Amino acid sequence: MAEDMASGNAFRLQVESGGLATLTFDNPGRSVNVFNRAVIAELAEVVDELADRTDVRCLVLLSGKPTNFIAGADVDEIARITDGKEIEVAVVTVQGIFSKWEDLPFPTVAAVRGTCMGGGTEISLASDYLVISDRESVRIGLPETKLGIIPAWGGCVRMPRKIGLTAALDIILAGKAVRPKKAFKIGLADALVPDASFGHEVRRFADLVIAGKAPKPRKADFKSRLLDGNPLGRKLVFDQARKQVLERTGGNYPAPLRAIEVIATGLSDGPSAGFAAEARAEMELAVSPVCKNLVHLFRLMEGSKRADPGAAPGRPVESTAVVGAGVMGGGIAQIIADKADVEVRMKDIQEQALAQGMAVASRLFDKQLERRWLTRPEAARKMTLLRPSLEYTGFAAADLVIEAVVEKLEIKRRVFADLERTTRPEAILATNTSSISIDLISAEMERPERCVGMHFFNPVSQMPLVEVIAGSRTSAEATRTVADFARRLGKTPVVVKDGPGFLVNRLLGFTMAEALWLLNDGYSIDDLDRTLREWGMPMGPLTLIDEVGIDTAVHVGRILVDAFGDRLEFPEWFDRLVDDGRLGAKSGKGFYRYKAGKRQEPDPAVYPLLGLEPTAGPPSPQLVSDRLILPMVNEAARCLDEGVVATAGDLDLAMIMGTGFPPFRGGLCRWADQQGLGKLREVLDRMAGERGERYRPSVALDRAVEGGGLYALWGQVGTSNGDG
Ligand code: NAD
Repeated sequence: MAEDMASGNAFRLQVESGGLATLTFDNPGRSVNVFNRAVIAELAEVVDELADRTDVRCLVLLSGKPTNFIAGADVDEIARITDGKEIEVAVVTVQGIFSKWEDLPFPTVAAVRGTCMGGGTEISLASDYLVISDRESVRIGLPETKLGIIPAWGGCVRMPRKIGLTAALDIILAGKAVRPKKAFKIGLADALVPDASFGHEVRRFADLVIAGKAPKPRKADFKSRLLDGNPLGRKLVFDQARKQVLERTGGNYPAPLRAIEVIATGLSDGPSAGFAAEARAEMELAVSPVCKNLVHLFRLMEGSKRADPGAAPGRPVESTAVVGAGVMGGGIAQIIADKADVEVRMKDIQEQALAQGMAVASRLFDKQLERRWLTRPEAARKMTLLRPSLEYTGFAAADLVIEAVVEKLEIKRRVFADLERTTRPEAILATNTSSISIDLISAEMERPERCVGMHFFNPVSQMPLVEVIAGSRTSAEATRTVADFARRLGKTPVVVKDGPGFLVNRLLGFTMAEALWLLNDGYSIDDLDRTLREWGMPMGPLTLIDEVGIDTAVHVGRILVDAFGDRLEFPEWFDRLVDDGRLGAKSGKGFYRYKAGKRQEPDPAVYPLLGLEPTAGPPSPQLVSDRLILPMVNEAARCLDEGVVATAGDLDLAMIMGTGFPPFRGGLCRWADQQGLGKLREVLDRMAGERGERYRPSVALDRAVEGGGLYALWGQVGTSNGDG
């Protein structure tokens, strides 16, 4: 018989007469368990009470949430705190509670059956045993460095002791979460149990613990102990890790580097020194701008996962179809089969394209097999969801069709006319166009309200953004259906208004054009790309043009110049690259040379072809940000003013997810606000005087300066997530 001992707000303790106790964490009024101030205060009381119990023989920590164990610390609190001292005190308090937990006079078992992050993992590490469910969706990890902080509640000290230094660095430095099987394999979990009988298995495990028959808690294996145990081996591992972090982050993210130092202290000077180092590092990191920017991004992403429940509902999508089995169509079909797990009809006009589309999908599944994210039978079953055809076979059953044929208005219109004939009247018809207006595509449709843009980025499997484009006649239902479906595919949808370049390509157009003007001014391909990379972009502008395809860039550039010619101009020599057969990476030559599809050095032949000489020497980072980033800020203000995107937060999310705009800068608008928008306007004004009218600050930017900034004027919280 269970005896209910404590009924606080978030924790419920039950002790059975045989000595088996369970502590259930169930944050009232929230879908996930988080450690906020109130919860921590309550946990402190519970742990004090437990320390005095003499009737408990084993304590199991459970979650009352169906799919979440513990999400970690309350991110809103991290966002708010600005006083380092306050952080240090808070960290030391929690460390103390977890250490008391570790020292309880009976064994403890963390029973993890849902997402377990940060503080959730750290209290599990302070437990004697960690039992994990084999449910596929469960993840356990320490994501702190992704938020610009480190695991400071003992994670940096206990993780290496539990799984070895190398495996711990792998998780902590990349802010990784691992699947249950991996958690068991690396020794993070002591037992991996079937989800279907989780409660039963946990109880059995606890009974074994009480009977003294449980396996010994796992510790780092022999090989890693050997390497980690000797100072020389450790130094090698740390040096290597530091090098890798610097390569990956360009030194723009301080948290992983601090984590390395803290882990080293914990291993060489013992746990107490390790805990003190954790607290010291956290008090500096958590108030840093990088942390605040990363937390800002995290909240934008969380906001975008939730559609406004008050808005028009989307249609359920049980069956889909894709038209055009090319680069994009093949990728889209694969991700639908994989993530949404529904049937995808795939139509093309060429047998060979269909075969290629299937091959694209099959290769992507093979990659997942290699990584053991899927089993072979699962991958085979998902492949059978893809149904290629030269006809519109099965389209009558589709709830959602995504068109991804060549970028020609006439062809797209013909396809949409076919779709109106072959689908049910209520099916949603989406287009993956990257530059054609939705209103133009739907102009001749009988029911244009079901036509909507669903703009994936290339490569589909890797790029997290989907621009959901609402034409002037697109229904709220169509927009919402596509946004919801994008979320089902694991993508971040951002709703934008129909217009040239939509949002992301419109903004990118301004930076690409300016990069070409810098080239025109005598800067070298190499210097320009490197400087923008050092600024934090994943690739330089000329590499990006090569990747997009120079012909495509010229084509989109023309559309943008037609629309925004008063302030956007490309050097007249841009077309010459295409005439020379330089289409970028896909053609094996562009601004760069390519060997077997791999980018090599910049091609010196480009300069004489364009009549240029790279004599200017490396540009300063300031020049690059003034010339390449400020025109985007100017245009971003216009986009917000025109309602192309609902909020500055949505714009930032789109730029980070769609172009890799550096997360540590928090987004284009946030960066601009932090620089001081008035100051940026002055720079634009000066450049307009010196270099040309195209830099002239927009009226929209003036309004933003007067309104106190882009965020002050155009809000922050993602409000346009498929909700019309
Ligand atoms: P692609 O040339 O690789 O594929 C187009 C496919 O459409 C070909 O297989 C072709 O046979 C097929 N097709 C042509 N007419 C057809 C018809 N009437 N019915 C059925 N199939 C037909 O092109 P892609 O790069 O996959 O681009 C497709 C769409 O996606 C375009 O609108 C493009 O603007 C957009 N897009 C491309 C990228 C990119 O980087 N490639 C990125 C975002 C969006």
